[in-house]
Amino acid sequence: MKLSKLYNNQIMTNNSIPYGRQNITEEDIQAVIETLKSDYLTQGPKIAEFEKAFADYTGSKYAVAVANGTAALHLSTLALGVQEGDKVITTPITFAASANCVRYCGGEVVFADIDPETYLLDISSVKKLLEEAPKGTYSGIIPVDFAGRAVNLEEYKVLAKEYNLWLIEDACHAPGGFFTDSKGQKQFCGNGNFADLAIFSFHPVKHIASGEGGMITTNDEELYQKLLQLRTHGIIKNDELYSNSIEFAGGNHNYPGWYMEMQDLGFNYRLTDFQAALGISQLRRAGEGLNRRRQIADIYYNELKNEDFILGQTGVIEGHAYHLYILEVKDRLGLYNHLRDHKIFAQIHYIPCHLMPYYRDLGWKEGDMPNAENYYIKCISLPMFPTLTDLEIDFVIKKIRAFYE
Ligand SMILES: *Cc1c(COP(=O)(O)O)cnc(C)c1O
Repeated sequence: MKLSKLYNNQIMTNNSIPYGRQNITEEDIQAVIETLKSDYLTQGPKIAEFEKAFADYTGSKYAVAVANGTAALHLSTLALGVQEGDKVITTPITFAASANCVRYCGGEVVFADIDPETYLLDISSVKKLLEEAPKGTYSGIIPVDFAGRAVNLEEYKVLAKEYNLWLIEDACHAPGGFFTDSKGQKQFCGNGNFADLAIFSFHPVKHIASGEGGMITTNDEELYQKLLQLRTHGIIKNDELYSNSIEFAGGNHNYPGWYMEMQDLGFNYRLTDFQAALGISQLRRAGEGLNRRRQIADIYYNELKNEDFILGQTGVIEGHAYHLYILEVKDRLGLYNHLRDHKIFAQIHYIPCHLMPYYRDLGWKEGDMPNAENYYIKCISLPMFPTLTDLEIDFVIKKIRAFYE
């Protein structure tokens, strides 16, 4: 087995191996402590610094830090004006929040099936939906960079233009991931070149951890301003934009110092300064973590590619950010339980969203998404996180083989 320079000296320090795990260093801890001792616990300088660093990392113009990835999705649908009756297309193979954000605004979720090769929302099934309905039926599409594989947003942008749709890229699995466009250029997830908004999560299993946390990236200044406002109750503090008069506000010739206006119904979706400090510190190691994830994927793929119990696997794909490494296997339940017996906690991503009881109640049923449902029967996510050691990978592979022998 190929050993990596960085990690081959480490021994297994834990007796169980989860599918994902954060990596908190002494540097991270110091960054949080420093912020706790500063003047700001929330909405201090670390927020803007994190936003700037994250915008630079993704290649977008603007970034807005929020409380979590779900809040990022909710603010995105609000900022794009989703309302009662709006129809939005997304994939059933995702974390439920990708779909739920449409429901928060009273919109209707329309699932389209996945591509069985990439596991991503299948653009041909999206096209079919759009072509079969009168123009104007749909408002937007939420493609997901599932498992870390970047959606080809250049293709979705063509559809979005033709049908006058917005695009929210759910990039929670893919900071640092990219696809190659028709001109041979790398297009990084969340860079804002094609989607109106992109969202990220800093939950501990994701690439960058801040406890809870999220980010929205965009190149659209108007949406950016809207997001800032909605993040803090819909309140603005800007003399030039007030609706009420100076007299009403209690000033003479100017608005008084205390004055502000709530112009829209927003939320408190702020991130704290010490979480931002952790995020900044983590972001500095994001490139290193991503390289290690790619190395792990390479090992899994090469070790398992000739095994006949493998019915499909993610493989080595350029630009993949490998939040997850997924196998499609025979006897998935048997393998899952066998791995658990050896304290290897593989996971299943995901139970198809359209078959959650909540969405069944809205009319979705088995057979609606054959590719997604067929994928769900076989999929299993192997341990995948940067501090996974070569010894641990070896152990996982040996236990997988042992089960099928
Ligand atoms: C994690 C995740 C979210 C939600 O992020 P939270 O920070 O947990 O709210 C949304 N979409 C996808 C695809 C995710 O993996």
